[in-house]
Amino acid sequence: MRKKIVAGNWKMNNNLEETEALLSELSAKLPNTHADVVVAPTYVNLATAQRNLQSSAIKVAAQNMHYAENGAYTGEISADMLLNIHVDTVILGHSERRSYFGEDDALLAKKVQTALDKNMTIIFCFGEELEERKSDNHFTVVESQLKNALFQLDGTAWENIVLAYEPVWAIGTGETATPEQAQEMHAFIRKTISEAYGDAIAEEVSILYGGSVKPTNAEDIFGKPDVDGGLIGGASLKADDFIAIIKAI
Ligand code: PGA
Repeated sequence: MRKKIVAGNWKMNNNLEETEALLSELSAKLPNTHADVVVAPTYVNLATAQRNLQSSAIKVAAQNMHYAENGAYTGEISADMLLNIHVDTVILGHSERRSYFGEDDALLAKKVQTALDKNMTIIFCFGEELEERKSDNHFTVVESQLKNALFQLDGTAWENIVLAYEPVWAIGTGETATPEQAQEMHAFIRKTISEAYGDAIAEEVSILYGGSVKPTNAEDIFGKPDVDGGLIGGASLKADDFIAIIKAI
């Protein structure tokens, strides 16, 4: 059985007090669930979040990291720094990192390798832009994002990889892919992995959907056979919404 996952990507939101308040509300309201629940606060609050969630089932992830071991990379955070505060999961390749910070497939391949070398879990994001979908290139784009950043890996690496398909046109826009569009792409992603790595690996990889998931649409999206959960932005900032989304899985 593939793992079900609901992850909240808080992006550049929530100061220290807001982080603590949201975490304690989430911990108090967390329902019994078979899914892994993950939150990704901003760097400066990661250590606090990790400490506050020590006795909670909620896991903490980082939103990004650098590929280098350490050194002269002003403003960056290394894998070892995350591991040192017991954060062993990292989101890589988010579309905002790609578009605002110029992260491309080649850079992401390096980050992925570093995370794997450190035995971290990666939530790897990718997805097409609106123009690419309009011009019917979405499958080609998604396939090349996957191949360029991940298909140099050997099969065992996939145990540490969670995929998050996030069509850029649905992120933070209120516009969601329909459950059918999500399923169609997730099935395509699984087929692409199966062709390269075989069915056993493809069947084990959790593929999350991200892009305007909310309490009102989560159940329909999560109900699709190849959708194994969600990466939630805006709706993960309100405890009741995030809890409702967790209940939907
Ligand atoms: P959204 O963001 O849920 O606010 O659309 C999703 C994401 O960027 O991970």
